[in-house]
Amino acid sequence: MKDKNKTLFEKSKKFIPGGVNSPVRAFSAVGGTPIFFKKGLGSKLWDENNKEYIDYINSWGPMILGHAHPEILKVIEKVSKDSLSFGAPTSKELEIAELIVKLVPSIEQVRLVSSGTEATMSAIRVARGFTKKDKILKFEGCYHGHADSLLVKAGSGALTFGQPSSAGVPKDVAKDTSTLPYNDSKLLEEYFNKFGNHLACVIIEPIVGNMNLIVPELIFLETLRNLCTKFGVVLIFDEVMTGFRVSLGGAQELYGITPDLTTLGKIIGGGLPVGAFGGKKEIMQILAPKGPVYQAGTLSGNPVAVSAGLKTLELIQAPGFYEALNDNTTKLMDGMTAVAKSAGIEFCARNVGGMFGLYFSKNPPNSFEEVMKSNGQNFKKFFHLMLEKGIYFGPSAFEAGFVSAAHSEDDIEFTLNAAKQSFENL
Ligand SMILES: *Cc1c(COP(=O)(O)O)cnc(C)c1O
Repeated sequence: MKDKNKTLFEKSKKFIPGGVNSPVRAFSAVGGTPIFFKKGLGSKLWDENNKEYIDYINSWGPMILGHAHPEILKVIEKVSKDSLSFGAPTSKELEIAELIVKLVPSIEQVRLVSSGTEATMSAIRVARGFTKKDKILKFEGCYHGHADSLLVKAGSGALTFGQPSSAGVPKDVAKDTSTLPYNDSKLLEEYFNKFGNHLACVIIEPIVGNMNLIVPELIFLETLRNLCTKFGVVLIFDEVMTGFRVSLGGAQELYGITPDLTTLGKIIGGGLPVGAFGGKKEIMQILAPKGPVYQAGTLSGNPVAVSAGLKTLELIQAPGFYEALNDNTTKLMDGMTAVAKSAGIEFCARNVGGMFGLYFSKNPPNSFEEVMKSNGQNFKKFFHLMLEKGIYFGPSAFEAGFVSAAHSEDDIEFTLNAAKQSFENL
């Protein structure tokens, strides 16, 4: 049979740089041909060859309710009939803003954008405008989208491609971004004592999902919060991935730590392009039109995208939603750890809510440096063995995985059987 994925990829390479519209999709880290999908339903995907997969990427997080959820499709259809865009205020924007403020503890005011990248880029600008300082601090392996000042030692696709700092980022821009290792409280304190007075903000993934999954040490986040308060530095939690994923109120609710600003994306669009940034009113007030910090968007608050997001946020508030998601994901992780062990493979796994990490190492990594030590060859082989059996994990060892509410016990069992065979064949 002709492999349609291959044909489409070859042709795409002619018209699209590298054949893809986002680098990690190209399978460069694992080799082989990217899968071209044509349909998704619940936990399942079908590619152009009509092969079926269980999806553990969820479009990198947004599809927390599974693909083609009937209630989301219904609302999209209904709202679309009243036009796709106005470029003017709508009541739906107010509705989602009120809901975000209610659900995310630290957010008093919020502005909508169309991607996570826009959210982080804008949050940094507000922080700089507010503090009237230029320097920012981030952590190695954290990914905050592809804005110039944040593509310094970044994770996700930037990691996969071994180009943590992108070409095309002016040195003058990059020089204002410092990076420190994740989970190192001592270095953080030393850094603040030397440079804290020059910092506008610190941006962090409060649980990292862009260099595989890295869980923060509570003391590290607490130290960061205290130092930011002491030095008057704006603390930005980038919850584009963790927001509405690890719990209804995000990582900040889970750990009880209050950032000054929060960035959101992925799940709040329910699969359509939506991002948001928000936080203390005192800071958000300096945005135009009220204040001097400019930020805008033709499609910001788009009624169709916002409606898909609103419906998603409504459905995930169902009682027991996160408990079930967490239990299901934990079951998958425990199962995979067990089958790897019986196959004699050095492997471990962990999850926070519906977000998980698979590691070909003895213990879960704690930092970028430790992530780099895991067995990349085994990951590549395992990835392809699983793909062949119809299990779709992220095509890179540096990405977290996701379970949705649509994943059934049968899906988990099927996955564990496939994992058992794959580990045995490594
Ligand atoms: C995905 C992601 C982004 C970027 O969002 P886009 O919508 O891809 O621009 C930023 N930060 C984090 C933590 C992310 O996971």
